[in-house]
Amino acid sequence: MKLQTVKGTKDILPSEIQKWHYIERTVRRVFERFGYEEIRTPVFEETSLFLRGIGETTDIVGKEMYTFQPDAASSESLTLRPEMTASVMRAYLQHGLRASAPITKVYYISELFRKERPQAGRQRQFWQFGCECIGSAAPEADAEVIALMSMIYRTLGVQNTVLRLNSLGNLETRKRYRDALREYLRPNYEKLDAISKERFEKNPLRILDSKNPDLADVIAAAPRIIDYLDTESKAHFETVQTYLKQFGIDYVIDFKLVRGLDYYSQTAFELQSADLGAQDALGGGGRYDGLAATLGEDKETPAVGFASGIERLIIVMEKLRLFDMLEKKVPMVMFISQSDAAREWTMTAAMQCRQAGIDADVDLLRRSFKAQMKESNRVGAHYAVIAGENELQSGKFQLKNLATSVQEELTFNEILEKLKIEK
Ligand code: AMP
Repeated sequence: MKLQTVKGTKDILPSEIQKWHYIERTVRRVFERFGYEEIRTPVFEETSLFLRGIGETTDIVGKEMYTFQPDAASSESLTLRPEMTASVMRAYLQHGLRASAPITKVYYISELFRKERPQAGRQRQFWQFGCECIGSAAPEADAEVIALMSMIYRTLGVQNTVLRLNSLGNLETRKRYRDALREYLRPNYEKLDAISKERFEKNPLRILDSKNPDLADVIAAAPRIIDYLDTESKAHFETVQTYLKQFGIDYVIDFKLVRGLDYYSQTAFELQSADLGAQDALGGGGRYDGLAATLGEDKETPAVGFASGIERLIIVMEKLRLFDMLEKKVPMVMFISQSDAAREWTMTAAMQCRQAGIDADVDLLRRSFKAQMKESNRVGAHYAVIAGENELQSGKFQLKNLATSVQEELTFNEILEKLKIEK
């Protein structure tokens, strides 16, 4: 049996890696422009972190976690991280980052694991970039995080997106809204599907997430959470919107964008792409002022952040031909040998080039002169340096420009100087 990648996972081959590097480079640059620093946390954590930090009624915790017991004799339970926010908050609390600065702004580029049904844009191991801004409850933080996310996509050239925005208010708002939603749904209870009936008691907000077309009318006419916001939450939401308008960031209000868990509050947002299929969310985020408390922290720890999928971004960027300008990395110079003695010389010469910061390559297969020349053209090297017995004796080598076929006879030092200028 041939060994293959596991269902829902993918190799990222050298032929694709440039796309990843380009995205990672751009993402890092924009995060750093906003004063964010990178954080890296372990791939696995105690299962209880995610039970508390994501919520037991979510699909992730309910059925998608890769949980394992490392030691059959112990009750310790570990889980491969299905998202980053809980891990980042754990790290923030564990290391007392609050003490080192009034606000902590961190970003990540990480792989995550969810046991979902694989399809286009949905994998079991996938990558996200995202950030968490911890320490401020002010609407300026929400606006800046949304603007940061938006600037990343703009810098990458991704258009055709829709930013959906909503406010979940505070705890009191959600309690009043949940009651109103149940009140509204009660006469329609029999129309609900099995899963929505289950959510009716436990978490009625999640009924609004339903993709069941039979429920579309009921959901469309449901009360809207923004009509239940208290004065403070309303002002918070209005300030976020004022900033977005000032920044020239378009958005639509989507009252269906709700999160069922109590530690989410105020702003919620999602970025959708018209260039994706059924899985059309590029990224999303919001405010989660109550998360730290669910992890056992007693000090107020307001926070806001977002997470974006990289595989889906690549699908969109390929469609929009945004990778076309990426150029394959090629060696500046290939060393070609015409004898055994020359081979030794080319090995050392290539090393000296690399030490001088020049991308150089040399034949490792003891191939014929002709095959080495062919290889130089195949990899697209700019120059070939040809060394045979005569060259070794005279100390002068042929430097061939492979694009123009112009050849010069130079000492090795002269070649080094010339290539250093071109690098
Ligand atoms: P979430 O953490 O569920 O809010 O997801 C944030 C973003 O991560 C989504 O908008 C997707 O772009 C991406 N994402 C989530 N789940 C997957 C998955 N299973 N495979 C690929 N990308 C995903």
